[in-house]
Amino acid sequence: MSTTPEHVKCLIIGSGPAGYSAAIYAARADMKPVLYEGPLPGGQLTQTTEVENYPGYPDGRTGPEMMEDLKKQALRFETDVRHGWVTKVDFSGPVHKVWVDDTKEVHADTVIISTGANAKWLGLPNEIRLRDSGGGVTACAVCDGFFYRGQTVALVGAGDSACEEATYLAKLCPKVYMLVRKDEFRASKAMVHRVENTPNIEVLFNTEVKDVIGADKVEGLTIVNNKTRVESRLDVTGLFLAIGHKPATDIFQGWLDMDEQGYIKHKPDSTHTNLPGVFVAGDAADKVYRQAITSAGTGCMAALDAERWLAAQGRH
Ligand code: NDP
Repeated sequence: MSTTPEHVKCLIIGSGPAGYSAAIYAARADMKPVLYEGPLPGGQLTQTTEVENYPGYPDGRTGPEMMEDLKKQALRFETDVRHGWVTKVDFSGPVHKVWVDDTKEVHADTVIISTGANAKWLGLPNEIRLRDSGGGVTACAVCDGFFYRGQTVALVGAGDSACEEATYLAKLCPKVYMLVRKDEFRASKAMVHRVENTPNIEVLFNTEVKDVIGADKVEGLTIVNNKTRVESRLDVTGLFLAIGHKPATDIFQGWLDMDEQGYIKHKPDSTHTNLPGVFVAGDAADKVYRQAITSAGTGCMAALDAERWLAAQGRH
């Protein structure tokens, strides 16, 4: 049996909006992209219910349906979409080596990394259950806040994202409880001022969520003051988590420049990483916007950058 590694022109790692958008552009440019779906085919959007803010879907679409559409579009231009998880890379040479499921070795002229990021959760059983059933637990205020307009909601977190999302929700909801586990914010002063100047946000310091109440929908929270140990019930119909994200970039550590949280750095106004022929798109490089549409946009950019880079090498 031959052990010669497969050689491809364009390898795309990850199957969220960034990966599929890159695939559509790369395939139409005749780069014959191979896309590995990764551990969560379709990415974070498959964990959400309704998506109403993606242009072109006037009546909204569920996240899983939208990802099926994107996949179909990539397949229509003959992207080679494969099950499999890239577990190791070696970017030391001009040809980039990756291993799929620890076994299959693939060599690629260009690699587009679109492995995304994962929201962090508290890990409470009822939180996860209601998240998975679309029952009112979410980690994206910009995506889902609209469904809670006119309602009282709670948001957990004290960083910049939490402050930004609390002020976003405060425009839609009459009351937003912000639950902060310490007695201070982690966010920048400017963001904290924004929260403090929003009258319908009530910040509860030293407060943690002990349980989420509700059979099919969030009906309230059991919260505990971690100083006094006093427990109480908070009547809310939505729980938003803003306790950080973790980019899925561990396998690229040591090869690519990253910030301290693991987001891959890219050159300004482009998707070029520090290594020639390796590009990054989507949430693996974005801790600020994190939207399907911005992710798709950078996927398109990565494919164009890859194509131009190959052409400049005289290889396309
Ligand atoms: P951060 O890691 O900065 O903050 C996470 C927050 O969640 C912290 O306040 C932390 O609390 C809290 N937290 C973590 N785990 C738990 C838990 N189990 N229970 C309760 N609270 C918890 O994440 P962000 O997403 O806010 O920001 C990520 C990066 O992106 C930062 O560098 C930020 O500056 C940047 N950013 C910038 C924006 C901008 O400039 N407009 C907008 C959004 C993000 P504690 O403080 O107690 O550790």
